Amino acid sequence: MSTTTIISKEKLKNVPLYLGEDIRPEMKEDIYDPTYQDAEGPPPKLEYVWRNIILMSLLHVGALYGITLIPSCKFYTCLFACVCYVISMEGIGAGAHRLWSHRTYKARLPLRLFLIFGNTMAFQNDVYEWARDHRAHHKFTETHADPHNSRRGFFFSHVGWLLVRKHPAVKEKGGKLDMSDLEAEKLVMFQRKYYKPGILLICFILPTLVPWYFWGETLKHGLYVATFLRYALTLNITWLVNSAAHLYGYRPYDKNIDPRENALVSVGTMGEGFHNYHHTFPFDYSASEYRWHINFTTFFIDCMAALGLAYDQKEVSKAAVLARIKRTGDGSHKSG
Ligand SMILES: [Zn+2]
Ligand SMILES: [Zn+2]
Repeated sequence: MSTTTIISKEKLKNVPLYLGEDIRPEMKEDIYDPTYQDAEGPPPKLEYVWRNIILMSLLHVGALYGITLIPSCKFYTCLFACVCYVISMEGIGAGAHRLWSHRTYKARLPLRLFLIFGNTMAFQNDVYEWARDHRAHHKFTETHADPHNSRRGFFFSHVGWLLVRKHPAVKEKGGKLDMSDLEAEKLVMFQRKYYKPGILLICFILPTLVPWYFWGETLKHGLYVATFLRYALTLNITWLVNSAAHLYGYRPYDKNIDPRENALVSVGTMGEGFHNYHHTFPFDYSASEYRWHINFTTFFIDCMAALGLAYDQKEVSKAAVLARIKRTGDGSHKSG
């Protein structure tokens, strides 16, 4: 009689081939665990977090009003709002996501300072919490331990998950993830310690005052356009990675998982929409098979590397990608 653990055929299909390839041996917490399955029984009742529902509604009303103010905005205010958008997106894409959640490259202090600044401007929870949620999202994708489980629908995976109490499985499994790399990083823990004054200053006060102080914009335009509208846009476009890129698009790398390739999401997030690739190879610094194709973030990291501020970028070999496409892809890849 064999003592080998028996895994069903369905689960075996999901066991990643690349585990032997080990291009990033120091991090395993974002690797999909096909053995984790939801417990049987009805899902627990939703517990609304009214404070978040009210604040999120007010922000969106403010952002809609901001849209009506755009025609009366000074040109520099619109330009400034766009610059803040890009800085925030890099704080999420190059920072919280590719650097801190997945450890796909290394960054020197000046770059990490820039990324923590952008990340605080983006105000999507501090890096430590963002990375813990995100590692759980990869490891337990589309189960109740995935904080924004897309099986619960578009709205839940987009924003609903932030408006209700976390599912007990998220707390249980997320709490057990190894976060020691971030706990050891002083800058990340500094941001976490001073997060509230940090967001107040960098996400709200600074973007409102800069247009008023430097080019005589009204405080109203600064607040509603450069702050509320810019912040709401950054949030919604980032959330599309969790909603749209888990629901719409092809799955050329692994048809057994829900994340998909979504070019529109890549445009908005500057490179985070190649989501079937990213969930298949979470350790690739480009989060895509292609480097600069609809991927400003990879271009940005490469520029930082040219300046000596980023290094040790992890890349999956072409051969491993092609082998995976052949083994688990949906046939939509041009090589097939
Ligand atoms: Zn990720
Ligand atoms: Zn995802």
